[in-house]
Amino acid sequence: MPLPRLTNSDIIALTDLRHTLHRAPEVSGQEAGTAAHIAAVLRDLRPDQVLTGLGGHGVAAIWNGAADGPTVLLRCELDALPITETGRPDWVSQVPGVAHLCGHDGHMAMLTGVARLLSRQPPLRGRVVLMYQPAEEDGAGARAVVADARYAALRPDWAFAIHNFPGLPFGHVLVTDGPVNCASRGMKVALHGRTAHASQPETGTSPAHALARLMPTLTALSGGTVTDADFRLATVTHARLGEPAFGIAPGAAELWVTLRSRVDSGMAGMIAAAEALVGDVAAAEHLGHDISYHDIFDHCDNDAEAVAHITAAAQAMGLTHSADGLPMRGSEDFGQFGKAGARAAMLFLGAGAIADLHNPDYDFPDDLIPKGTGIFVEILRSVGVWAA
Ligand SMILES: [Zn+2]
Ligand SMILES: [Zn+2]
Repeated sequence: MPLPRLTNSDIIALTDLRHTLHRAPEVSGQEAGTAAHIAAVLRDLRPDQVLTGLGGHGVAAIWNGAADGPTVLLRCELDALPITETGRPDWVSQVPGVAHLCGHDGHMAMLTGVARLLSRQPPLRGRVVLMYQPAEEDGAGARAVVADARYAALRPDWAFAIHNFPGLPFGHVLVTDGPVNCASRGMKVALHGRTAHASQPETGTSPAHALARLMPTLTALSGGTVTDADFRLATVTHARLGEPAFGIAPGAAELWVTLRSRVDSGMAGMIAAAEALVGDVAAAEHLGHDISYHDIFDHCDNDAEAVAHITAAAQAMGLTHSADGLPMRGSEDFGQFGKAGARAAMLFLGAGAIADLHNPDYDFPDDLIPKGTGIFVEILRSVGVWAA
């Protein structure tokens, strides 16, 4: 049976959908409007089931095949970023300070292309789950989706995702087995001293010196390159000391550092080293301290058999593919679907010479929508959902 293909009117509708979503971006965990819009679009395509409110605002559309077979989950993301868009496309964000600058609007359009095709040609075997996941950018969404009680009934055998990637040749597929995204977490260090009059700082305990010591020593936990098994990177992202007042010697400070490692096991050692450093400096400076962690991402690991389906799909589409440059230093929560039992893999799809992800002038290239839909369709065929 020939595979279904997007028509020109599909591509026009999907491009319109992307622009509509782009105009009304919502940050992680607050994607209620986006989820409602997507759920309405999906219901019009008559899947066997639509689930809403998964792990927050997650939406899933499910198509059942005529015969038994594997359950395949395809994933995109609902959330935008708290960044002001400086590009001026006709579909520019209408929400001050929030914009789709990671291309998740384009990823939703690509997945909705698959939904349009499934509505005309349901799976022959197994089951397809189109997952519109919330809160990817802060690392909370995939974990919350797989922890949702309704996820157990989905139990995907396979899971796949596509992320667009500026700087890679347009349509090139970047994929490998093993680690593809680093583990990372935000470490927030609070230092507690005692304020004093600025004319008599000796009567208080200032965390200024400790803050100045910790910035370079924590940064120095970094080492290696991302291809090394023990790659580690610590990046100071924010610091605050006292209050903006000339009359007060400071009594408190806060330091934010993002810790990053190639794999989860490296993160444990990095946390221990960072906490020991903070403890030593705080004790030497007679300060109290506490540490909390935020935006926790495990490393993302690609299953080798799932990768084989991706490379087969790329070849069927006539797309070039390579593994150079992986793993990425950045983090991604898609690995949670693999940890929950699916054979999972994600690929990076070249978006050409455009602004980078999270740049204020980034905009997803519309021509990538049919490419992404096509790759997902070929993956479904390779896994056996549409095979005769
Ligand atoms: Zn992003
Ligand atoms: Zn993204």
